[in-house]
Amino acid sequence: MSPLVANVVPGFFSGVAFASLLLCLGLAIGIYLGRRMPSAVKSALDPQLMIELMAGMMRLTSGVASDVSQYRAVIERFAKGMSDSKTTPAVPADLVTHVMQANEQLQEKLTIAESTLARQASEINQIMNEARTDALTGLANRRAFDDEFARRLSQWKRHGTALMLVLVDVDHFKPVNDQYGHQAGDAVLKQLGKLLSAAVRDTDLVARYGGEEFAILLVDSGIEGGAITIARIQQAIASSTFRHEGVALRITASFGLAQPSASDDQKQLIARADEALYAAKHGGRNCGYFHTGTSVVPLIARTMVTSTSDTEVIENDLKSLEKQVSRAVAPSPAGFDNVCADLRRKLSEVTK
Ligand code: GH3
Ligand code: MG
Ligand code: MG
Repeated sequence: MSPLVANVVPGFFSGVAFASLLLCLGLAIGIYLGRRMPSAVKSALDPQLMIELMAGMMRLTSGVASDVSQYRAVIERFAKGMSDSKTTPAVPADLVTHVMQANEQLQEKLTIAESTLARQASEINQIMNEARTDALTGLANRRAFDDEFARRLSQWKRHGTALMLVLVDVDHFKPVNDQYGHQAGDAVLKQLGKLLSAAVRDTDLVARYGGEEFAILLVDSGIEGGAITIARIQQAIASSTFRHEGVALRITASFGLAQPSASDDQKQLIARADEALYAAKHGGRNCGYFHTGTSVVPLIARTMVTSTSDTEVIENDLKSLEKQVSRAVAPSPAGFDNVCADLRRKLSEVTK
């Protein structure tokens, strides 16, 4: 055997063996993950880890493919050298054909393995997204919310980035189902989900927290910002008609607002927002309450004033109230005039 053949052929075979080993390894991991992944997702395996794992597998098979290509190039060079050379005997021609065929088969298998892995990666991505999305509204589900909540809470602790939690619960939703059917109820929840997403910033997070309850994480918002957002949502709900198969429904919702304190964990903050929501229900519904840390207080009209048109509405309400009372109680009592003057002063203060 010529020195060229003696050097290249063993190297080639060990290369093919190595590539085959990697291929088998890649396929074995792929098949294993293909069988195991849905249950792995359900058991809350770290999604980032899975993505990295899949990326690693893709790199592995791509690596093997490029190894094979390299060996193919070597063999082609080797074959060309042999046919050009006058001195090298034509003995290993069969061998070259044989190994090139083997190489091609290996390349084919790798191409299939690569596309199988790519498909599996996209299926896993889809399963992961589904596992974190509420099927009815398309919003983040409770699991996704809890994860994001933990992340943002620790960010708040580290950097002091303002954070507010809002819980939203549809008022008297059971009668909606009872009267118009579960499908109508579903349609309301779907539309409400869209309304909530549209009412907050892109950086905020809206999630379906369960049933007819939603949770919102407001970033870079203080109490005032939280109250204004709630007022905006309330207004959007009030001016919306929720439609399902020709039926037009109107709803209201109650809101609980809370902000983190240094010693808070997620549970404590949620418990406070929940307490505020409970107070809103008991306070007559269609309103919001804020948990101060020690007690709950209603979110008053001061924070609900968001635009000139709001102030106009309040001003008009005030005038009509004045008229009604002055008609009912004549002559107008001085005490009532004072109350109106006081209210006007407060109104001008908040709209400054
Ligand atoms: P409240 O003002 O006190 O919140 O009264 P409510 O009727 O909204 O509250 P309650 O807890 O009594 O009822 C909640 C209802 O929400 C009952 C349940 O059937 C309905 N619900 C929960 N999840 C869904 C859902 O996915 N689709 C539909 N259509 N209804 C749901
Ligand atoms: Mg409710
Ligand atoms: Mg509820």
